[in-house]
Amino acid sequence: MGKSAGFEAMAMAARDAAGVLAPFKLARRNPSATDVVIKILYCGICHSDLHQIRNGWGITIFPVVPGHEITGVVEQLGSSVSRFTLGDRVAVGCLVSSCHDCHSCNEGLENYCPKLVWTYNSHLPDGSHTMGGFSTAIVVDESFVIKVPAKLPLDTAAPLLCAGITVYSPMKHFGMAEAGRSFGVVGLGGLGHMAVKFGKAFGMKVTVISTSPKKEREARELLGVDDFLVSTDKEQMAAAAMSIDYIIDTVSAKHALEPLLALLKVNGKMVLVGAPDAPLQIAPITLLAGRRMIAGSLIGGIKETQEMMDFCGEHNVTAIVEQITMGSVNEAMERLAKSDVKYRFVIDMRKSESEMQRPHHCDQEFVSA
Ligand code: NAP
Ligand code: ZN
Ligand code: ZN
Repeated sequence: MGKSAGFEAMAMAARDAAGVLAPFKLARRNPSATDVVIKILYCGICHSDLHQIRNGWGITIFPVVPGHEITGVVEQLGSSVSRFTLGDRVAVGCLVSSCHDCHSCNEGLENYCPKLVWTYNSHLPDGSHTMGGFSTAIVVDESFVIKVPAKLPLDTAAPLLCAGITVYSPMKHFGMAEAGRSFGVVGLGGLGHMAVKFGKAFGMKVTVISTSPKKEREARELLGVDDFLVSTDKEQMAAAAMSIDYIIDTVSAKHALEPLLALLKVNGKMVLVGAPDAPLQIAPITLLAGRRMIAGSLIGGIKETQEMMDFCGEHNVTAIVEQITMGSVNEAMERLAKSDVKYRFVIDMRKSESEMQRPHHCDQEFVSA
């Protein structure tokens, strides 16, 4: 619990690992000098939200209000806020605080700060429990608020805050964003479809590697992918051996790495961004034979997130979304668990207001955040 002074926001929370989201009342803090109060208009649903509400990683503190793909407008400003004015179109991703003083923070890599505070299921230095974007408002220190370019719609920009930056950052860092190179994207979900979009924007030849043959046609026609491999089709996979320069693996569940590594050329690189609940196995020989590299990457820092947003504004890169309201959020979570989403659910918060205060959900609580 945090400070008592604050204002009320409506939200949806899961109260236990059954992961059912139900209306919930929050007391958001009053803004400090450096805080921005944001009216949330849209929030994307990331597979991490699903892992968290079901306690898949074993770290969830209940009740949990998920949501870290937040867009909205500035509604109120702390007395010393300098980067924003009322009405600005803004966004918040996975982070809301860090120490500003460690090696990572000094490099603009707040996402690797040992004291980073997640947008939800985390604690601020004053002890308050953070609650995420499945809510009507959020209060965030201005140094963790991103500007949304005028060109980008707030609904299709929301998933950039996690799905977008999570694939953009390793593509840049590991030198994978090279025109003319071949780029494999494993898993065509929220992160995967953003990786395809960035791959195309960087001028790469993009191959999707998927468990879902039914996704092929749209992947080619709508997303413009150059090639589509069904990972369970051994013949197709064998024919594509050693043909891809770089792979990004976005898979949310346990899966075999060897067949994917075998697709890499000599000196090929594969970056894992998916975070399955269970460990993955690797036979070193698949790396040795081909001098291949495997790495991981976690979201991105604030400076790079802004850089990515600006890139998206210039190149018209946005997510393809299915808009929903809170009334169908539990159904959306079930569909996400079955890889049945094209390609990101985004919640319209204004249209959800009545659904977050229905009288028959009268087990509402009041928690500070
Ligand atoms: P998503 O929309 O559910 O997409 C995941 C995709 O993985 C599915 O669409 C499916 O694609 C594939 N897949 C699912 N189960 C599979 C299985 N058993 N075997 C092989 N492929 C399978 O999820 P998302 O929001 O993109 O998130 C993906 C993962 O990244 C999650 O684990 C999430 O927690 C993690 N994540 C990590 C970071 C980070 O910073 N590193 C940030 C955000 C999310 P096909 O149907 O095409 O096979
Ligand atoms: Zn996420
Ligand atoms: Zn730090």
